[in-house]
Amino acid sequence: MCGACGVLIFAEQEDGEIHKVTYELLGKGRVLADKLGKNLCAVILGYGLNDEAQELIYYGADKVFLFNHPSLKDFDIIKYKQSIVRLVNEIKPDIFLIGATRIGRSLAPRIAASLRTGLTADCVDLDLDDEGNLVQIRPAFSGNIMAQIKTRTKPQMATVRYKVMKMSIRDPARKGEVVEMKAEPIEDTGIKILEKKKANEVNISEAEIIVAAGRGVKSPEDLRLFRELAVLLGGVVGSSRPLVDAGWIGKEHQVGFSGNTVKPRVYVAFGIAGSPQHLFGMRYSDIIIAVNKDPTAPILNFSDYYVIGDLYEILPQLIHEIKKVRCVEK
Ligand SMILES: Cc1cc2nc3c(=O)[nH]c(=O)nc-3n(C[C@H](O)[C@H](O)[C@H](O)COP(=O)(O)OP(=O)(O)OC[C@H]3O[C@@H](n4cnc5c(N)ncnc54)[C@H](O)[C@@H]3O)c2cc1C
Repeated sequence: MCGACGVLIFAEQEDGEIHKVTYELLGKGRVLADKLGKNLCAVILGYGLNDEAQELIYYGADKVFLFNHPSLKDFDIIKYKQSIVRLVNEIKPDIFLIGATRIGRSLAPRIAASLRTGLTADCVDLDLDDEGNLVQIRPAFSGNIMAQIKTRTKPQMATVRYKVMKMSIRDPARKGEVVEMKAEPIEDTGIKILEKKKANEVNISEAEIIVAAGRGVKSPEDLRLFRELAVLLGGVVGSSRPLVDAGWIGKEHQVGFSGNTVKPRVYVAFGIAGSPQHLFGMRYSDIIIAVNKDPTAPILNFSDYYVIGDLYEILPQLIHEIKKVRCVEK
């Protein structure tokens, strides 16, 4: 396949598992590349990833640059950065997109600095202007406005939040090209993996059902009720920021601007007012249910269903009713 690379995306993988943000980047990247009339390319680094490289084609890439080497099996920021910078200098994409994940957020600024180009972090949407420049859309001023940012230098680089863009659709009939890149690994970057530990047990971004607690909760012990309901519904506990700041619950549970973006099937918010910063993280949930004692709470305007009332009356009652129904069903 010939043709210039219009959009390059970083295909993130850990232990051979491709992070789903990659498919979202391919979805948006496809739209942008088509508008530019150029190729959508992906770069993937690791070891033994031929099938995964092919998958990226099924999900929309025209060309996949594969750095396949034992020394790249685990993420090493220096090795990854050097290989990617070399590739970008070679293929000169107009646009380079990276997921705003733990790995992406550490890698992207280092790559941008090496390439002496700009980087917009945490974008929630992307577009092209009439000249084909990337318009990078992200919240500014604590999420109160959406800023549209353009970069003069190329590639125009952005990190993109997980769960804000549509995944591309897998088409196993799609054809593309996998280009094996010669890895030129530096033998010792000084980085050694001593032990692999799961960052946390909760992966709130992937949850289908979230039972979220806000400042309407009076004490950390009361979060027990939220855990109970979450278990009953097969979901996880979410939280607004004040509870995290108070140390009542871990940051991995926080939903919002400075926390996680979520898109569950059902989001139940108890005692959460609905600040722009909180709404930013959950407003695209399929169904939003709010319980709040204030009939003017902003979250009610974004809810599909709401109950005006005291969470300390409603939450135990709800748990009781669900248990009752379950017992009857048994
Ligand atoms: C840069 C920046 C980033 C931020 N990032 C985030 C973020 O990621 N996530 C986030 O959540 N916030 C974030 N915030 C904070 C945000 O502005 C709000 O302060 C926060 O969302 C408020 O949380 P809350 O709704 O739980 O609390 P409050 O605003 O205090 O609202 C509590 C609500 O509970 C209701 N209530 C009280 N008691 C009961 C009861 N017994 N039963 C039922 N309802 C009751 C009240 O009516 C009220 O509506 C950020 C702020 C800034 C400046």
